[in-house]
Parts: sequence; structure tokens; C-alpha cells
Amino acid sequence: MIKRVAGTRDILPDQVNLWQRIEEISRKIFSVYNFSEIRPPLVEEEILFNRSLGESAEIIQKQMFLIKNGSDTYALRPEGTASIVRAYLENNLDKTNAFVKLYYLGPMFRLERPQKGRFRQFHHIGCEVIGSSDPLVDVEVISLADTLLKGYGIGGYKIVVNNLGCAKDKSGLSANLRKLLKDKLGELCEDCKARYARNVLRILDCKNKGCVEVVGKLNLSDGHMCAGCLGHFTQVKQGLAALKIDFEISPTLVRGLDYYTSTVFEIKHPGLDSQQDALGAGGRYDNLVKELGGPDTGAMGFAFGLERLLLVRGEEKENPSRKPVYLISLGEAARAEGIKLLSGLRGHNISSDTDYEGKSLKGAMRKANDLGADYVLIIGDDEIRENAVTLKDMQQGTQEKIPIGEVIPRLKTKLSC
Ligand code: AMP
Repeated sequence: MIKRVAGTRDILPDQVNLWQRIEEISRKIFSVYNFSEIRPPLVEEEILFNRSLGESAEIIQKQMFLIKNGSDTYALRPEGTASIVRAYLENNLDKTNAFVKLYYLGPMFRLERPQKGRFRQFHHIGCEVIGSSDPLVDVEVISLADTLLKGYGIGGYKIVVNNLGCAKDKSGLSANLRKLLKDKLGELCEDCKARYARNVLRILDCKNKGCVEVVGKLNLSDGHMCAGCLGHFTQVKQGLAALKIDFEISPTLVRGLDYYTSTVFEIKHPGLDSQQDALGAGGRYDNLVKELGGPDTGAMGFAFGLERLLLVRGEEKENPSRKPVYLISLGEAARAEGIKLLSGLRGHNISSDTDYEGKSLKGAMRKANDLGADYVLIIGDDEIRENAVTLKDMQQGTQEKIPIGEVIPRLKTKLSC
């Protein structure tokens, strides 16, 4: 039998309800914050991600799903930000509507080693605010993440914030870190030894025990930040405090992608594996719009991993709220009458279904029960002769024969639709 690709999932009908609920809550809250939905394609030119995320990012180094097409190379999107900035510029939103607040829901693809909470196809719920460097945008975005989590019914998380400084500050921070770590290279894991040259900041959030110990002893401060970045960070902290949002500051919080500058944040949850304990993460990317050929304008966003939200929220299976009226037609004449009645019910928006498996009356009643049907309609030879239908109320355990023309009005009253 052909199996699904490792690290992908089938979201089955009894789980899909929960997914839809999270999506619904998200759409509602995004709209309360006046964000509009955007749906970029799942596939982009590879170079978009190389240029945005940076050649040294782990995603670019080893996690891209690439598709060769002649001399072109496409990539299944590993994240949403780069695509959205590309769409913002390609569709001239920078000229017509420079400041935008966008959200997105959808699958992302990373060729990672699959494990709990880490998939090769996973789903982001995210947003991007493009066109402003106002620190209050950072406050709005972090508070939106907090509101969404509350909306999903998730508690016990920790919001961790840091500021990497502007591009200049960030390279100062990298240089300082290289100096601090120069004599400690032997104590770092193999990955971090490679990161030292390529992406030294990433050593700060390595989960390897030895690396955590080395990093723990480093004297990190906000000394890398210029006056402008320090002022920005102060306003973000004050804004979050004013909104009574609990947060922690961690100088070791860095994001692995080149485009991040200034404010970065992550939301951790103890219900997740310590190796990948983030429900979501994001930050500012004030240089990306310009680097992709647009104006010099600030931007900020974040994304939650939907699978991880479900992991901590509990992925209990739910019965669908829909309870179809179940039609049982016994015999050929009844079946011919039945498909007309079914079509009539559906034409009146009454959720309804029938048996296509040749079940006996007993088997069909069992099926109606399994579906949670409150009402069952039975058409047999007697009913055909009398131009009637038997209407069974499954809750009350009663039944009556009614003229076929009365079925729909009667059910509409009972179901108040
Ligand atoms: P990132 O774009 O890596 O900052 O990811 C943002 C969020 O997406 C993370 O905090 C996770 O919740 C989720 N995420 C990232 N990669 C994966 C993955 N491979 N499988 C499941 N969720 C992921």
C-alpha cells in the first residue's frame, strides 16, 4: 500500500472540526484587529527564500522542498513572510496602500527530521504588518498573539522578548559573540562549530546541553544596541506593560533568519518538547522590504504552528455538530421517491443523507444513530401507496405517518431553519 510521506498528516473528518474551530477563532480575532486575509501561492521561486532568509539559515541549508523545472528552481514555501512581502511589492501595495495588516493560514513545508511537534508539512497561522517602524506596531502584534492564544483557550505559555538591534547593531552583536566564544569552540556541538562562522547568533538558542552551559556563562547585555534601538525597545516594553501582557526578556533569544532585526519574540509552552517548545514566534524585519526591491519601510509579523496549538490544547475528537436527517427508503419505488425528497430537503438547507450501501432497515437505523440523527424518514411500500412518509423522532422515540408534502414544512419547524 502506498503510504503518506513521512512528516505529513491526514487530517481526518473527526479531527477537522477542531481545525476549523481554531481557524474560525483566528479569522474572528484578526478581523477585530482589522487585519485582512492574504493567500499567496504555496510555491515560489527558490531565490525568494534564499535572499530573504539568508544562505546560512538552517531552512535554506537543508530544509527546502525544491522543484526543478528546466533551468528554474521553485520551492514549496517554508514560511509566509517572504511570500507576503513579494506579493506586497509585486501587486504594488506599497504604492496604493503602503501600510497593510495582513494575515494568513495555510501549509508550510520543511524537509526536517520528523518527530513530535515537527512535521514536514505543517500549518502556520500568521500575520504581517508592513509599512511602519512604530514600536506600538510591535505591541499590537505581540498583544494580538496573546489574544489569539486566549481565544483558543490556551494558557500557561510564556512570551519571551528580545531586541537584536538594527542591522548594524546586529553585526556588532555577532562580532562580539565571536570574540566571547573564540576560546570555547571546543565545548560547542558540531552544529554550533559550523554556526560560529556562518550564523553565530544561532548558537545562542542551541538546545544542546553543552552549548546551553557555554551560553549561560556569557555576559550578554543590551550593549550592542544603538540609542534608537534602545528607545524602540523601551517603548515596546512600556506598551506591553501598559496592556498588562506578561513577558520575559531574554538576551539569548535570536531568530535563525537573516531578515530579523530589532524586536523578536517567541511564545513557549511547557506542554511542548523542550527541543521545540515554541508555539509561535516572530519579530521585526525592517530591511526585508527594501532588500526585495521595495521602499525602505519597517515591518513586523509572527506565526503560530497550528499543530503545536492543537498539541497543547488537546486534540480530542469531536462529534460534528451537524446532525443530518436520515432517509431510509426500502425498495426500488421508494428509492426513486427518496432521491426527490432528499433533493427537496437539501434545497431547504436541511442537512440530510441516505443509505447507499444496501443496508437493511435495522442496519440503516443503526447508521442513523451513529450519525446522531434526531429525525429519520422512512419510505416503504405502504408509504408509497399512501403518498406518505414515516417521520421518526429519535429523541422522543415516537413516529407518525405524514403526507409527503408536509415533510419539509414539519422538519423546518422542528429544526427551526
Ligand atoms: P518559525 O517560522 O520557524 O519561526 O516557526 C513558527 C512556528 O511554526 C513555530 O513556533 C512552530 O510552532 C511552528 N513550526 C515551525 N516549524 C515546524 C515544523 N516543522 N512542524 C510543526 N510546526 C512547526
